[in-house]
Amino acid sequence: MGDFDTQTHTKEGVFELMKNMGHEQLVFCQDENTGLKAVIAIHNTNLGPALGGTRMWDYSSEENAIKDVLRLSRGMSFKAAITGLELGGGKAVIIGDAKTQKTPELMKRFGEFVDSLNGKYITAEDVGMSEKDMEYVRMTTKHVTGIPESMGGSGDPSPITAYGVYMGMKACAKFKWGNDNLTGKNVLVQGVGHVGEYLVQHLSSENANIFINDINADQLNIVAKKYNATIIESSEIFALNMDIYSPCALGATLNPDSIKKLKCEIICGAANNQLENENRDSLLIKEKGIIFAPDFLVNAGGLINVYSEIKKFSKEQVLSQTKKIYDSTLEILRKSELEGLTSYEAALKIANDILLEKKNN
Ligand code: NAD
Repeated sequence: MGDFDTQTHTKEGVFELMKNMGHEQLVFCQDENTGLKAVIAIHNTNLGPALGGTRMWDYSSEENAIKDVLRLSRGMSFKAAITGLELGGGKAVIIGDAKTQKTPELMKRFGEFVDSLNGKYITAEDVGMSEKDMEYVRMTTKHVTGIPESMGGSGDPSPITAYGVYMGMKACAKFKWGNDNLTGKNVLVQGVGHVGEYLVQHLSSENANIFINDINADQLNIVAKKYNATIIESSEIFALNMDIYSPCALGATLNPDSIKKLKCEIICGAANNQLENENRDSLLIKEKGIIFAPDFLVNAGGLINVYSEIKKFSKEQVLSQTKKIYDSTLEILRKSELEGLTSYEAALKIANDILLEKKNN
C-alpha cells in the first residue's frame, strides 16, 4: 500500500516546508533500544495545546513520513479553528509496520517523548494504533485523549465523526438541490470501516441508495448485508453515476485523474486530506460544478468528542456542537459562491483568519 502523502517529490528542505506550511515545531524522536522512530509535528498553538492522533505507518521514506505529519498537523489546526475549539494543531507519526514492529516498550518510550513536551502536544489514537497501544502510551504520559468510556473517557470518536459528515452531506444537498432530503439519492461510500459504517447507518435510515467499496472483503460483505447496500469494485468507483461520493478510507483520492472521471454532484466524506493537491484539485472540482465539503470541516466530530474529554462536557453537548457542522458547511458553500472561491479556499480563509486574530490579540 502506498503512503498517505502522495504529493510529488519536492526539493524543499524541512525548514522550508515548515515555513511554507506555517509550523512552529517538529520533534524527531529516536530510541535505539526500542527501535522507535517518530516525528511529532506542532503546527500552531495560538488557540491552545496542539492536539492530534498518532499514526503508525510503514512509510516508504522518511521524507514521506515528515510530509505526512506536516500535512496532518496543519489540517488539525484548521479543523480546531473552524470548529471553534480552543485547541491547536498537532500530529505524530511512528515510522514502522504496525503489524510487526510494535512492542509495549516502544509505545512507552513514545509516551515519554510526548511527555517531554509538557502538554504542548496532546496525543490520541489514529490509523495503525489500537486502544491497547494507547494504554502503554498512557503509562508514561498523561497527555493522551480518546480514553475508553469504561475508563471515564469519551470513547470511540467514529460515531460522532460519522454524524458530522452526515450533517455536512445534508447541508451540501440543501445547497445543491434546495432540499436536504437524501431519500433515493445514490451515495457511494468508499471505506466502510469505523466511520464509514456509521455513515451508512445514517444513510440507510433515510432510505438513500447506498453503494459501498472497501479493500476489506469481510467488512464489505457485513455492511452490504446489514444495510442492503450494493458492493462496487474498486475499478468502477469513479465510473459510477452517483449523486454523492463519500471518501471514508484514505486521503488523496481526489486528483486530476479521478476528478476527470467523477460523475457526481457532491463530494463529502470523512477521510483526511482528500485533495492530492489542495489548490489544483479544489479548482478542478469547482470547474466541474461539483460541490465539495472540505474534509477538515465535516470530519471534526471526532475532535469535538475528544475535546469534551478535556473540557468535561456532556454527550448531548458533543452532539449539538457536531450538529452545527450543517450550518457551518452551508455558510462556507455560500461564501465560496459569493466570493468566487473554491469551498476549500473559503474554509481555509475562515480558519486562517481565526488563527491570525488570536495571534494578534
Ligand atoms: P478505519 O481504518 O476504521 O476504516 C477505513 C476503511 O477503509 C477500512 O475498512 C479499510 O479497509 C478501508 N480502505 C483502506 N484503503 C482502502 C482503499 N484503497 N479503498 C477502499 N477502502 C479502503 O478508519 P476510520 O476510523 O473509519 O477513518 C476513516 C477515514 O476518516 C480516515 O481517513 C481517517 O483519518 C478519517 N477520520 C476518522 C475519524 C474518526 O473518528 N475515526 C475522525 C476524522 C477523520
